[in-house]
Amino acid sequence: MEMVCPACNKANTEETHCSRCGADLLALVQIRRSAALALNSGTRYLKQNDGRNALHQAEISWHLKKSAEAARLAFLACLHLQRFTSATRWYELAAYRECEPALKVPNLSPFGERT
Ligand SMILES: [Zn+2]
Repeated sequence: MEMVCPACNKANTEETHCSRCGADLLALVQIRRSAALALNSGTRYLKQNDGRNALHQAEISWHLKKSAEAARLAFLACLHLQRFTSATRWYELAAYRECEPALKVPNLSPFGERT
């Protein structure tokens, strides 16, 4: 897994320290892994028709790493829960992350439509 150093922007293949500046990358690697685990767990919940837990895991993944995959899972979970306004917002976030993965996410809050 390639890790871009937040200190010097060097892409690293090593997962513990930046090969250029020596910055500790381990915490970032752990955050990425936790985001991936939440995504896998959410996907499993969705396959079991458990939209509520799928959405919860997608939100956890999204908070850890703003990935298009997390937004897509949240979109599908919202459709399953018939929360169409939130689904539309997640769809927009997923599309935005796919087009501009390195940019900061715009202020589109998918949260707030709770039932
Ligand atoms: Zn570095």
